[in-house]
Amino acid sequence: MIYTMEGEIMDKRIKWDQYFMMQAVLLASRSTCERLSVGAVIVRDKRIIAGGYNGSVAGDDHCIDVGCYLVDGHCVRTIHAEMNAILQCAKFGESTDGAEIYVTDFPCLQCTKMLLQAGIRKINYLRNYHNDSYAQKLIQLKDITLNKINLTQSDMDRVPFDAYLSD
Ligand SMILES: [Zn+2]
Ligand SMILES: [Zn+2]
Repeated sequence: MIYTMEGEIMDKRIKWDQYFMMQAVLLASRSTCERLSVGAVIVRDKRIIAGGYNGSVAGDDHCIDVGCYLVDGHCVRTIHAEMNAILQCAKFGESTDGAEIYVTDFPCLQCTKMLLQAGIRKINYLRNYHNDSYAQKLIQLKDITLNKINLTQSDMDRVPFDAYLSD
């Protein structure tokens, strides 16, 4: 067994929450809008059933190539990560009822409404992002579990990226 400096037993493996959140972080790196890179994975029974990131409709221009399409100060080109993940379930026929989501940033109101209506029971998020008060009210109303996840350096250190570097 490995012990921490405080003498607690340290898990040899990364915890599920950090494992799934890191996948969301990885997905965020595929985001095509520079205003905010967001990634999301939908998980059922410890299994990832879908993932998404902030991006335009397939075939349309990418914000990173041609700039954002701004209307009233908001980029309207992209589909949010959470929505892309839910849409992937719709497209390939995976039920989202009772599933949970791991998302890098607190969902906006539109995404929150969609997640609740799709039957998502737990929202795991990494960073606060203009946490919408009505979204929070709906989350309470539907008795959805909100879980703010922390990623620490020691979580990062468990993934030995260096070992996989090509020459
Ligand atoms: Zn954009
Ligand atoms: Zn959203």
